[in-house]
Order: sequence, then C-alpha cells, then structure tokens
Amino acid sequence: MTTKYIFVTGGVASSLGKGIIAASLGKLLNARGFRVTNQKLDPYINVDPGTLNPYEHGECYVTVDGHEADLDLGHYERFLNVETHKANNITTGRIYQNVIKKERRGDYLGKTVQVIPHITDEIKRNIKALGQSADFDFVITEIGGTVGDIESLPYIESLRQMKWELGNDCLCIHLTYVPFLAAAKELKTKPTQHSVKDLQQEGVQPDIIILRTEHHISDEIRRKVALFCNVEPDAVMQSIDASSIYRVPLNMQAEGLDRVVLRKTGFNPDIVPEADMTSWNGFLTKLEGATEEVHIALVGKYVQLQDAYKSIHESLSHAAAYNNRKLVLTSILSDAITPDNIAKSLKGQQGVVIAPGFGTRGVEGKFVTLHYCRENNIPCFGICMGMQAMAIEFARNVLGYADANSVEFDERTTHNVIDMMEDQKVLVNKGGSMRLGAYPCRLRKGTRVYDIYNQQTNKETDEPIDIIQERHRHRYEFNHAYQAEFEANGMQCSGINPDSGLVEIIELNNHPWYIGTQFHPEYSSRVLRPHPLFLSFVKAAIECGKQI
Ligand code: GLN
Repeated sequence: MTTKYIFVTGGVASSLGKGIIAASLGKLLNARGFRVTNQKLDPYINVDPGTLNPYEHGECYVTVDGHEADLDLGHYERFLNVETHKANNITTGRIYQNVIKKERRGDYLGKTVQVIPHITDEIKRNIKALGQSADFDFVITEIGGTVGDIESLPYIESLRQMKWELGNDCLCIHLTYVPFLAAAKELKTKPTQHSVKDLQQEGVQPDIIILRTEHHISDEIRRKVALFCNVEPDAVMQSIDASSIYRVPLNMQAEGLDRVVLRKTGFNPDIVPEADMTSWNGFLTKLEGATEEVHIALVGKYVQLQDAYKSIHESLSHAAAYNNRKLVLTSILSDAITPDNIAKSLKGQQGVVIAPGFGTRGVEGKFVTLHYCRENNIPCFGICMGMQAMAIEFARNVLGYADANSVEFDERTTHNVIDMMEDQKVLVNKGGSMRLGAYPCRLRKGTRVYDIYNQQTNKETDEPIDIIQERHRHRYEFNHAYQAEFEANGMQCSGINPDSGLVEIIELNNHPWYIGTQFHPEYSSRVLRPHPLFLSFVKAAIECGKQI
C-alpha cells in the first residue's frame, strides 16, 4: 500500500492540542489495523530541544535511539504504544544544518541554495524517509506553531508541494479555536475563517477542519464553517474540552475523524474494521471512575511549569488509574524545602517522587526530603538525579561521609559517590559525554526490582525478565568504589549495566519502597502498558504510605 501523509496544522492560537489530535488520529488508525507513525516538525532553529530550558519548552523527551526530542513524541508513544526515533522529530535547525552540510560538500553543483527548493526538498525528504523507513500506511505529521508564523512558512510550502505531488495520498487537517463571547452568548467562527484564509494564501486548502471549543458546536455552525472554508460539511468537527487527554481519541472517533480520513485517502471506511477501543475504554473507566485518592508529591526544581515533568505526571496517572485511584499530584519546589518545613511540606502525602534535574539549584532540598522519607518509611522514587541524590543522602547520613556529593555539585568533594567515569573524562566535549537513549540493565535476582518487573500483570512473556532496556539522559554515574560499602549497609545495587558494569538501580532494604533509577522509566509508560515501577510505587503508596 502507498504511504498516506496526513498533516496537522494549527491556527488562531497556540496550545490548542495539535499533538493530542495527531496522537488520537494515530491511535484510531492504529486500532483499525494500520501501521501508523507520528512526526513533529518544530519551527525553531535549535538542532534539537536538548539545550532548551524546560521552562521554555516543557520536558525534553528521549527516544530509544538517544534523540532528545519534543514532548509531543511522548504523547505519540503513550497513545500508540509504539517507539519513536530521531526521524520522528525534525527542527528547522536540523533541516538547515543538513542543507548547509550538503552545500559545503558541493552537492548542489554551483547552484544558489535557497529556501525553495533546497530547504523544502530537505523537509519533504525527511517526511517521506520516515514513511519508507518501516513501510508505514500512514505518517501523521504535526507542524508546530500557528499558520501565518514566519518560521513555519517553509513547512507549509512543503505541505503544499506534497499535496500537489500526491493528490489523495496527502491530507491537511487544520485545527482552530472557536471562542465563546459571553456577552453575545455566541460562538464565533470568524477567527477560524481568517486562519483558513491564511492557509489558503499559502496555497493549502485544508481537507478537514477541527474546531477546538469549550461549548458544543451546532450543525448550523459546522455548515457555516464548511461553506466559508470550502470543505465538506462532515469534514468540520469539534474537539470539545475533555476531562482527560485520553478521552480525545474517543471524542474524535464519535466525530468520525478516522472515517473521514479513510474516505478522503481512498478507502471505504465501512469495509475497514472499526477501531477496537475496548482496552482503551477500560483504562478510561478506571481513570475517570476512581473516587479514592492517592496523594503523591513530586519534588523538583521546575515544578512551576506543568509540562516540565510531563512524562512523570502521565506515568503516575496511568499507575494510579490501574490501581483504581484518583491521582492527586502536588508539585513541591525543592529550593523551598528545609529540615524545619519538611514535615509540613509533605503533610498528607503517601509517596514522594524525586525528580530528575541538572545543576545545583534545589538539590539540598532533595537531600532533606530523602532523609525524611528514608527515616519515616515513606515510599520514595528517585529518578536519575533523584537516584543520585538518594546515593548522596545515604552516604552522608548512613555511611557518615558528611561531604559526600556528586562532582556536578562539588568538584572537590572527597567522597565522590556520583562522578564522571574514567572513560568519560577523556571526552573533552561535555556534550559528547551524555548517556542518552536505551541501555540494558541486568536485574539482580531476589531484589525488589526483580520481583516488580517479573510480577507485573501486563508482562508480555513467560520467560523470567532479568535484562531490561530503559532510557537514559545524564552525564554522571554512581561511583563503583562505593558499591560494597553501600550494600553492606543496606542499600543494594540491584540493577547493573551488563556491558559497562555501571549501577542503574539502587534500592533500600527494610523500607516499604525506596528505589532510585539512573534511567528514566517515565519515558516508556504507556496507556495500555503502564510502567511496572510506577505501578508498584503507587501501589506501595496506597498500601503503606501513611498520610503524614
Ligand atoms: N544532572 C545529572 C547528570 O547529568 C542527572 C541528570 C538527570 O536527572 N536527567 O548525571
């Protein structure tokens, strides 16, 4: 089957949820049996979002192949239950970098290198290459930003060319916003009409228009949009505010999004099996039906921005739903935590997650929190820097090394429990020393993590699991020199990288749940495959995390 290319553009305002619409369509087509992948085109000049502050752009997501990516790839993986790769996220920076590299190599044979055709050709090449990489039936490409932005023009022009080249094998879905004017008690479609005009001016006629709204959109309004924007009446759909992002695929199924996409790309939707959303519905029933709460605190330094720890948030929400609990997540700024206010700060919490992070700010507050959780038997999950902080707190307060630290925070510490490993030190360029992407980890038999991975309900194999693959994004490592002393004092190194010997997991004996992972399990929790560590952590919080 020839690959179909579906583009999702946005108009009127940013943050309307293009990523969720794209992921929802992906889910529906996938559930109809098609091979689908989602792609994000970002209009900024950074080559990847790895260097962006989470406050600017939310969480940096990491793919299995070690690409630092836009957080929308997290939605794609969680919704579609698939892995994404470097090719699923392109930025303007990367497109220009490729073109300039080719220019320097002399590939353009004396030609003047221009936005059209060279930049647009490179954009199209990247989109088509993804489609061909695994014989996908559908590639759903979300164009970041809002139509009319200077930055996204080359992307829209590439879309125009692809529609021209591919005919029915290429569609444009345009997502806009319909505001409700309280004084007039009316929904207004004028901004949508203008935004579609912008798109048409750039040469693209949308095939489907999705209206983001807080109120139900009548048939009359739909007909009006269809007429003025030149689309078929059943190709105007609403995307109404939903109680959860995970309800959007079902809402869009009810609006007929997958049917219209199939019809417009040459299928008869009546003979393609309907999307089977039974297990998805099962998850939603749990998510929305849970009445008893579980209170979890997330301690980190970027807590003011909701998106900065997106994947942790989503993983906890999956885990709470499967444990039949409603997640109440409280974010606590680690900078503000002191020994005097820790008890008050954690009042009412049943479990604590210590967030990943870079740099010194807020790290002392993490040590204080860990000390309190360790001594008061509060379930505690340390992720990446959270795990490193667990090791440092243990070395300071159990092993008695008052100056124990990571060399990231104190280069001259005499007890460098977290350090850069010898083979990393030879790399002069710091950027090259980051451990990124999936690495194997051997679980030690008889440990809690071994049981967690092996007793999970959604285990896909009967074979014992002793090697897992999890994703990393960090520079520093647990220093092996301390392993024996940690273990002799009750902190086990229960997960080890079989190739390098690096410590990937630590866990405290004689504690209800105190586990730190050097990797980021939050990147691989999915709606239909929640992560075993999060499931187990939330279960422990429910069972033994007393509300302090
Ligand atoms: N700053 C730490 C390191 O580089 C941890 C990074 C993280 O938490 N992602 O090793």
